[in-house]
Amino acid sequence: MNIKQIAIIGSGIAGMRLGELLTGAGIAVTVFEKSRGTGGRLASTRLAEGSADLGTAMIEPGCAEFEAWLKAQGAREWSPAGADFNLEAGSAPQGWVGFPRSSSLTRTLAESVELTTDTRVGVVWPDRDGVLLRDSEGEPLGYYDAVVVATPAPQAAPLLDAVQRFRVRADEVEVHPVWSLLISLPDRPARLAAVDWLQGEHPLLQRVVRDSSKPGRDGENWVIQASQEWSRAHRDESPDQVADKLLGALSEVCGEPLHPSFLRAHRWAYARAAVGLGKELSLWDEHLCIGACGDWLCGGDVEGAWRSANDLAARILACDSKVA
Ligand SMILES: Cc1cc2nc3c(=O)[nH]c(=O)nc-3n(C[C@H](O)[C@H](O)[C@H](O)COP(=O)(O)OP(=O)(O)OC[C@H]3O[C@@H](n4cnc5c(N)ncnc54)[C@H](O)[C@@H]3O)c2cc1C
Repeated sequence: MNIKQIAIIGSGIAGMRLGELLTGAGIAVTVFEKSRGTGGRLASTRLAEGSADLGTAMIEPGCAEFEAWLKAQGAREWSPAGADFNLEAGSAPQGWVGFPRSSSLTRTLAESVELTTDTRVGVVWPDRDGVLLRDSEGEPLGYYDAVVVATPAPQAAPLLDAVQRFRVRADEVEVHPVWSLLISLPDRPARLAAVDWLQGEHPLLQRVVRDSSKPGRDGENWVIQASQEWSRAHRDESPDQVADKLLGALSEVCGEPLHPSFLRAHRWAYARAAVGLGKELSLWDEHLCIGACGDWLCGGDVEGAWRSANDLAARILACDSKVA
């Protein structure tokens, strides 16, 4: 079929990159997003002053093409000063961050698509008139020539029911939860005066990042990320209990009690997909015109989500040009 209108479910990097490529090829794109804003796991939280990145802390491009794309989206390079949890100076990753916040990477892309936020899609079903979308209450959202699911695997699985082999693929992916705690401090802790990024061996902590050290940020905001093992074991605790434990762990590292003026614990239920590169970087059924892309099909990280979207765009456009 000739694809003129396509719906994408999910406004993370995969969905928005796909939208960029398809609108560039003249296809009308509508993106449905269940949250208030775009970005998915590149989300940033608004604070009384500025914002902080609660999800991905940094993007480390593995290829020049992705790096050039990040630069074109206004991302900035960042080289944080690193240490381990004993505060021995050590190496920290070097990479790129959205400017002035992570979610800026997807916000500029949103300008070229029709974006419908606060809408959770519940059903994707093909029939005579195209592919029908319904929201989670069962209300119709319209027919499209094609639909792409660009959500984490556990959220994609029920939306891929119409193509059983895609559903099975999504069901097979293991996705780990991660607890993150954002804190705003009145002053920089003395023992962290020269440190922006802590990582290493620790029973609770995966990494601690001074978000305020990134280009374009100010204040004294830190993001504490728990390890996958700890997050899994404490999955069902309340945000207050988790905040107490993570703050206690960082206070111990700093050798002083920390008294944040603001804190927010967030559980990312589907933080990291445990996947490699895989053979098929995206899913596309050219007869039903239903597809999927996202980090769970390629590497489990930001670059993988972007590559998965590139792969799917090429498949959709190749199928469309066969008809034209
Ligand atoms: C704490 C944390 C730290 C991380 N650190 C790094 C890192 O250092 N480096 C790195 O490369 N990667 C990191 N990642 C992983 C990285 O963020 C993801 O791999 C990447 O952002 C995934 O992009 P995506 O577009 O595939 O999915 P997402 O960003 O999850 O986007 C999916 C979107 O779909 C929406 N959605 C879901 N279901 C529905 C529905 N039914 N209807 C409508 N909308 C729906 C969601 O709200 C979301 O906005 C981290 C992730 C987390 C959580």
